[in-house]
Amino acid sequence: MPDANRNLLNRPLAEGIRRVGFRKWYERELLSGHAHMLLTLLSTIALMASFEAFNGASTGEKLLNVLFVIVCAAIALWSLRRYLYLLMHAEAIANQANCPQCTEYGRFTVVQDDKRTGETEVCCRKCSHSWRIFP
Ligand SMILES: [Zn+2]
Repeated sequence: MPDANRNLLNRPLAEGIRRVGFRKWYERELLSGHAHMLLTLLSTIALMASFEAFNGASTGEKLLNVLFVIVCAAIALWSLRRYLYLLMHAEAIANQANCPQCTEYGRFTVVQDDKRTGETEVCCRKCSHSWRIFP
């Protein structure tokens, strides 16, 4: 789970709800996730370009290309992993965002947040029913 002080773009759920509300938090998670998807795409293109540059290159250039391939592959894998995590996490939370009592979506406040387990107890703003959201 990302640390709030380290990662300003993707705040933990409880802090995100307190600062901007659930809907905005969810929107930001999705935007951030798709930015990582774009980075995956761009680094994959750069990876293919690095392979293409092997043709007719000198030994020094080939060594440099190997470095580019490693860097591009590392960025592509990291951003793909991050993209999938952000999307899956946002979806898992969104699936629990309906009030079990009145089915209102995404309108709740944080009652309590357990930093150890990541569970967040929330309270519906419409009917005041409270339930737990699991990470
Ligand atoms: Zn409710």
